[in-house]
Amino acid sequence: MKRVLITGAAGFLGSHLCDRFIKEGYHVIGMDNLITGDLKNIEHLFKLEHFEFYHHDVSKFVHVPGHLDYILHFASPASPIDYLKIPIQTLKVGSLGTHNLLGLAKAKNARMLIASTSEVYGDPTVHPQTEDYWGNVNPVGPRGVYDEAKRFQEAMTMAYHTFHGLETRIIRIFNTYGPRMRLNDGRVLPTFIGQALRGEDLTAFGDGTQTRSFCYVDDLVEGIYRLLLSDYAYPVNIGNPDEITIREFAEEILKLTGANQQVIFKPLPVDDPKQRRPDITKAKELLGWEPKVSRAEGLKRTYEYFRSLSERDLRPKDFDHYNK
Ligand code: UDP
Repeated sequence: MKRVLITGAAGFLGSHLCDRFIKEGYHVIGMDNLITGDLKNIEHLFKLEHFEFYHHDVSKFVHVPGHLDYILHFASPASPIDYLKIPIQTLKVGSLGTHNLLGLAKAKNARMLIASTSEVYGDPTVHPQTEDYWGNVNPVGPRGVYDEAKRFQEAMTMAYHTFHGLETRIIRIFNTYGPRMRLNDGRVLPTFIGQALRGEDLTAFGDGTQTRSFCYVDDLVEGIYRLLLSDYAYPVNIGNPDEITIREFAEEILKLTGANQQVIFKPLPVDDPKQRRPDITKAKELLGWEPKVSRAEGLKRTYEYFRSLSERDLRPKDFDHYNK
């Protein structure tokens, strides 16, 4: 039986990956330090014979007994407000954590896939973004802790590939959404849906003309799975090229939820990228992959999930738990 280690297993993407690999017949070892992850996302897996969980911070030495075929490194805070609250942890998990896991992959002769990001392109001057664009990142801005950790992560992974001959895969993930996102993580979709459900106005930042391109989680997981099993070691964009302004996006959420509120405007955060859309030519050619779930369908499924949360879960929370 093939064995896979998934870091960030209790998070949004990690938990969906655990589900997918269980479904494919793997033995899944999940790892998370639960700073931003939530055990609720994987509690349904604990009863399974072929799922194990380690409560561990991958920035510290990682030990896993037995053989491993694959390591998927998905542990990281992933929201701009997280970067402000836990900047050092964000840097460490992308840098020290990646180094520890590459060492583990080398010791186990496992293939390593890292979750990189469209943030490596920063506020892009090339549109749509192709993998050969080097990016426009402010290293000392509020997003620098995430962007630079991910850029370091790519460089470190490539060095293990070229110097040690390790089998590695690099996926650059664009904005992704779906069930199990944290309602209070500050990202645009859970924020808007939470506001709609609580009867509050929707807060578009800036004038709302900045764009993003949103990919439904099931499509992303399929892309990750295909890339892992491919033989391509260089970065591949995975995302949905269907681009929309944030203002239009807010209006779509109001329509979907039937809420009566308005869109109001708040100051634009520092270094907020003005536009973002993946060029997915490479993923199409190499992996035969393209997104299948439309935004209308994906938003409907995601809204159903948030609607099923209890009243208590819909209240905004503070971030004191970060300091525990
Ligand atoms: N945004 C917004 N209102 C919010 C939260 C986010 O208008 O309440 C905007 C944000 O400024 C950015 C876009 O939505 O332009 C996507 O933000 P998110 O934090 O989801 O991810 P990003 O793509 O910026 O990393």
